[in-house]
Amino acid sequence: MSTVSSMIDPFGRAIDYLRVSVTDRCDFRCVYCMAEDMTFLPKRDLLSLEELDRLCTVFIEKGVRRLRLTGGEPLVRKNIMHLVRELSRHLKSGSLDELTLTTNGSQLERFAGELADCGVKRINVSIDTLDPEKFRSITRWGHLDRVMRGIEAAAAAGLKVKLNTVALKGFNEAEIPAMLSWAHGRGMDMTVIETMPLGEIDGDRTDQYLPLSQLRADLEKRFTLTDIPYKTGGPARYVEVAETGGRLGFITPMTHNFCESCNRVRITCTGTLFMCLGQEDAADLRSPLRASEGNDLLSGAIDEAISRKPKGHDFVIDRRTRRPAVSRHMSVTGG
Ligand code: SAM
Repeated sequence: MSTVSSMIDPFGRAIDYLRVSVTDRCDFRCVYCMAEDMTFLPKRDLLSLEELDRLCTVFIEKGVRRLRLTGGEPLVRKNIMHLVRELSRHLKSGSLDELTLTTNGSQLERFAGELADCGVKRINVSIDTLDPEKFRSITRWGHLDRVMRGIEAAAAAGLKVKLNTVALKGFNEAEIPAMLSWAHGRGMDMTVIETMPLGEIDGDRTDQYLPLSQLRADLEKRFTLTDIPYKTGGPARYVEVAETGGRLGFITPMTHNFCESCNRVRITCTGTLFMCLGQEDAADLRSPLRASEGNDLLSGAIDEAISRKPKGHDFVIDRRTRRPAVSRHMSVTGG
């Protein structure tokens, strides 16, 4: 049974989608996401798995219907399957519609079966190229063959996989048609994402930024794309590709702002609530969580934060302002 969320923001948007960054650590260092030499949070600052479970449960009681675990790399958090298993009770009780995760796939071979067993039905796997050497260079540390084995294990376990690809100028734009055919040939949907100015990285983001309007125009020279109303709860707008029979999603935070339909908030592994990926305002939920065994303080702090959810982000990638729009990396807030 679906209940209406009690979390309604000042713009009338009901919040029913929570993304939880369970760790800021990752076993890859994708060049557009992180600097090579990242400083991670000390382990003592992290919420325990029990605290994360309690926090998520309060959000579910308040109307969250979809929960996505992300990071950093969610599958490198120690004992992460304990949290997944605990959270899966909300699927069984019917108070949660979906429990899912976004992963780089490096640990998927090990965890796919257990994820499926916990009621996870679909996952997003991020891959920006199918060329092993390019994969190594974009992730700095990743091995494509391992990720491929992870995808096979996920398929064998019955998990539906969606491919997430960040569109990067001069890196993968020419490869995207082949990636699309590859994904659709395996029954996987694909989503392409515009690179967002989050956190200091080693390179220049203006060199990487590829507007998806341009990518779409290029794809339309080879494929017949038809807009469809398909939705997965996230911000992607989908087309159907006639030649492959598969779906392709566009996530366009830069060229087409999708904030008017924003239904989500994000919590970090330290219990900080971000009401918008693209704004600095945040609320500390760790203090109210730890201040009392009951959840009233926590629930009040969440309501207060939702009443401050901003209308939208204002990302700009500009050669003149070299600073990122938001100082924290995607790996902190969770992608
Ligand atoms: N480690 C997991 C993964 O690789 O999917 C989850 C976290 S990762 C931060 C989530 C997604 O954010 C990935 O698809 C990644 O490519 C994307 N991402 C990271 N930094 C980004 C940026 N600056 N702009 C757009 N997408 C970004």
